[in-house]
Amino acid sequence: MSGQVWSRALITGGAGFVGSHLCARLLDAGTDVVCLDNLATGSRANVADLEPRPGFRFVAGDATDPEALTGLPGRFDLVLHFACPASPVDYQRLPLETLDVGSTGTRLALERARADGARFVLASTSEVYGDPLEHPQREGYWGNVNPVGPRSVYDESKRFAEALVTAHRGARGTDAAIVRIFNTYGPRMRTGDGRAVPTFVTQALDGLPLTVAGDGGQTRSLCYVDDTVDGVLALAASAETGPVNIGGGDEITMLELARRIIELTGSASRVRHVGRPVDDPARRRPDTRLARERLGWRPRVGWSEGLERTVGWFSRSVAA
Ligand code: NAD
Repeated sequence: MSGQVWSRALITGGAGFVGSHLCARLLDAGTDVVCLDNLATGSRANVADLEPRPGFRFVAGDATDPEALTGLPGRFDLVLHFACPASPVDYQRLPLETLDVGSTGTRLALERARADGARFVLASTSEVYGDPLEHPQREGYWGNVNPVGPRSVYDESKRFAEALVTAHRGARGTDAAIVRIFNTYGPRMRTGDGRAVPTFVTQALDGLPLTVAGDGGQTRSLCYVDDTVDGVLALAASAETGPVNIGGGDEITMLELARRIIELTGSASRVRHVGRPVDDPARRRPDTRLARERLGWRPRVGWSEGLERTVGWFSRSVAA
């Protein structure tokens, strides 16, 4: 973990998919972890194996509630702001909450970090690039976002959060950085959250048709969660401010992804094409030169290994 060991970290959204992996990794490295989560889209089950560990504390609370943040006792030297509904199904169900956690939540988390003298990292997203007109996407690209479209609450929440981080650093001297995470997959994704990997894997395991949006020619570059966590912590341990892209290098069409999952699960399922969501980005691939050059980061877990681990986890949780 880049050699850096923090004494005590606050992770907002720590009971979510990526957040729970971050909690585990930091605990393993000897950092005490406080996970603040309102369970809007996360689950206590995601951190159940961490709860008995002495360095871990789960706090039920909302990152947009000033008392929840200021009321946490002790001092943190790392604040990772990951609270936010992240899948289209979730943020369209929670549109105002999504905007609030990007605005008020980010502001409060930044203030807590500054008060404690902590390093701060905002989980931003490739969605700030919208439906990109530049390919691959490098950090200097400003994006192509529809501010009133169905994805706008998420995209604009994160864009505003990025502006807040930048302003806080400039106006208050907060040691704050921005990571732009591209599509990440792995164990503890939620069945039914609408994202391609958990949807296809559960459909394949259940012998149902894999519902591919449109002709399935749209691409994503998926990154296994362990690699994403490595990237986030490498940024946290560095003096970089970002934004820094963290994402997988293998661009894949959704049709190809569905086929690989059918093959890997040995399922008899077929592909069924369904309507494509409005403003669904056509292509997505990160330019990760900055992360490679400044953080020494690159994804290590290949496709087959990452998908195998994910399918294994889903099979076990379906069986449980
Ligand atoms: P997730 O939905 O699994 O996790 C989000 C967590 O935040 C959940 O546990 C949820 O309960 C919690 N939360 C939401 N609003 C909250 C609030 N107001 N107060 C406290 N807790 C709150 O999603 P994820 O995929 O783990 O994403 C985590 C972060 O990473 C998000 O900020 C997301 O935007 C960002 N991100 C994720 C991806 C990805 O591919 N998974 C890609 C880009 C960015």
